Amino acid sequence: MSFVYERRYAGPIQALIFDWAGTLVDYGSLAPIFALRRLFEENGVPVSVAEARAPMGAEKWLHIQALCSMDGVKQRWEAQHGSAAKKADIDRLYEQYLPMQLETIAERTELIGGVPTVLENMRRQGIKLGTNTGYSRPMLEPILAAAAQQGFVPDSSVCATEVSRGRPYPFMSFRNMMEMEIESVAACVKVDDTATGIEEGLNAGMWTVAVAVSGNETGLSEEDWRALREAEQISRAASAHRSMQRSGAHYVLDSVADLEPVIEEIEMRMRAGERP
Ligand SMILES: [Mg+2]
Repeated sequence: MSFVYERRYAGPIQALIFDWAGTLVDYGSLAPIFALRRLFEENGVPVSVAEARAPMGAEKWLHIQALCSMDGVKQRWEAQHGSAAKKADIDRLYEQYLPMQLETIAERTELIGGVPTVLENMRRQGIKLGTNTGYSRPMLEPILAAAAQQGFVPDSSVCATEVSRGRPYPFMSFRNMMEMEIESVAACVKVDDTATGIEEGLNAGMWTVAVAVSGNETGLSEEDWRALREAEQISRAASAHRSMQRSGAHYVLDSVADLEPVIEEIEMRMRAGERP
C-alpha cells in the first residue's frame, strides 16, 4: 500500500486556556515574589528575586519545597537551621506564607493592559475561555472576584491543588477541557508566562503561546517596564523572547494583548494541514 489517510482537526480554535499571574493579571508576576521573599526573609534565609522566580508556575507548596532544595538556598537554610528543610518545615512555611500571599494577590488583581478587549473579542467569536494556576483555590478566589468586577468570568478555572499533579503535567488543562466540553486538544491554545506552563500545554498536545514581557521572564511591573529606555526595552524583550522560545512554545508574544492575530494564524495553519 503506497498511501495512508490520516484524520486531523482543521476546524476553528474552540478554547483558550490562560494562566493567571503574569498572563492575565499581575504584570511581572510580582505577587508571588513579594510573598515568597518575605517568607524566607522572616525565616532567616533571604532569597534573591532570581531564586524566588526559578520554580514559578508550580503549585505553591511545591514551589516552596523547590526553593528549599535549590543549591544556594539549601546551604543557607542548613547553616541557619542546622539541617535541610523537611516536609514538616515546608508545611509550616506554607501555613505562614498563605496570608502573605493573599495580601500581595489582593494588591495585583488588575487585568493586564489590552487583556479585556482580547478576551471580549475571542468570546464573541464563540471561543471558550478557561484558566488554570499554580495558586490554590483560596488564593484564586480574590482574583476571580476582581476579574468579574472587571467584566471577565472564565468558563472554567482549575487550581494545581485540585489535580493529582500540577504543571508540567497536563492535567489542569485536561480538566479545563472537560469542564468546557471541548472536542479536541488540537482545538485548544494554552497561554502562559512560564516554561512549565508551556510544557503543560505541550504535554496536553495543545497549541501554546508564551508571553515574555508581561510575566515572570521579564519580571517588572508595568510602570517599571514603561520607565525603561526604549533600547533597554528592546534588549530585555529580545532576551525574554529567546528564553521563552526555549520552552518549545509555538509562539512567543510580549503579552496577551497581541494574541488575536496568532489565533487567526493557528487556524490557517490547521486548515493548511498542520497539527499542534
Ligand atoms: Mg504565571
